[in-house]
Amino acid sequence: WSNETIAVVTGGNRGIGLEIVRQLAEKGVTTVLTSRNIEQGHLAVEQLKAKGLHNVAFHRLDVTDSRSAQELAAWIKQKYGGLDILINNAGIVSYFHDDKKQGAVDVIETNYYGVKKVIESLLLVIKPSKFGGRIINVSSRLGLLKDFRSEELKAMISNEMLSESVIDSFLKNFLADVSNGQITSKGWPTIDLEGRGPEAYSDYCVSKIALNAYTRVLAHEFLSRAYGEKVYVNVVCPGYTQTDMTLGMGNNTVEEGADTVVWLALLPPSELPSGKFLAERTEVSF
Ligand code: NDP
Repeated sequence: WSNETIAVVTGGNRGIGLEIVRQLAEKGVTTVLTSRNIEQGHLAVEQLKAKGLHNVAFHRLDVTDSRSAQELAAWIKQKYGGLDILINNAGIVSYFHDDKKQGAVDVIETNYYGVKKVIESLLLVIKPSKFGGRIINVSSRLGLLKDFRSEELKAMISNEMLSESVIDSFLKNFLADVSNGQITSKGWPTIDLEGRGPEAYSDYCVSKIALNAYTRVLAHEFLSRAYGEKVYVNVVCPGYTQTDMTLGMGNNTVEEGADTVVWLALLPPSELPSGKFLAERTEVSF
């Protein structure tokens, strides 16, 4: 990779995203830090430039807004001719939300549909190259299927015939069960983190389960692409990391949280997996 390698990071103004931008830029990659808030984005870029990282640029991106993603794609095409690495890092939780139903809708819209919107727009500008286009979706171990309580729902989302429309139905079912107060009784994931109650992270777990499933669907679609047109897509869990999302709690510093993402983003093509879940630079079973 070189300064002609172009990367985009979503949610780059703080937390793990900001650190991913820093590490990529430090390794010589021209990196576009994106954020939904223009002022915060510019501020983050200025901080990196003050550390000597002049290969960082800014563009606004709200991942829930298709038009915003299309504008970013057009800007990248015009400024750089295309993109090599897309890192979908932006994500939210809803445990602080008073309105649990709206919280769940927002989490699914950002963590799942937001990633889809960004990929759908930016895939069109991923450059054909021998390096191989790369998409890394920042997911979570909370989206692994091993802890899923309903065998029926688990079968739905791990089926070999999985498709985007199956994922849509899965999410529609979940949001209906949230509305009816049936998260626990229908067997959706429940996990009592930091004493917030068993259903506090159900929407987050479901959004990441869907993201992992979508990554497998995409990887399958990309399989048939010819050499030079290849795109590799994987998910990474950064581990429990000290950011605003965790109110500063966690085992990992942001440097550690960003490590596997950056390592994977720059791996030689011959060593690149696709459709896999990785954590601590190691493959983990979905
Ligand atoms: P933070 O809450 O620190 O940062 C989240 C980032 O996402 C912010 O930049 C935020 O922007 C951005 N964001 C949220 N919504 C949007 C949107 N609609 N459009 C654009 N950007 C948006 O979280 P982390 O750094 O901890 O998390 C980063 C990723 O890592 C997430 O996907 C998370 O799920 C995942 N993860 C984190 C773990 C952890 O322990 N921290 C563990 C496992 C996974 P803004 O400042 O505008 O709100």
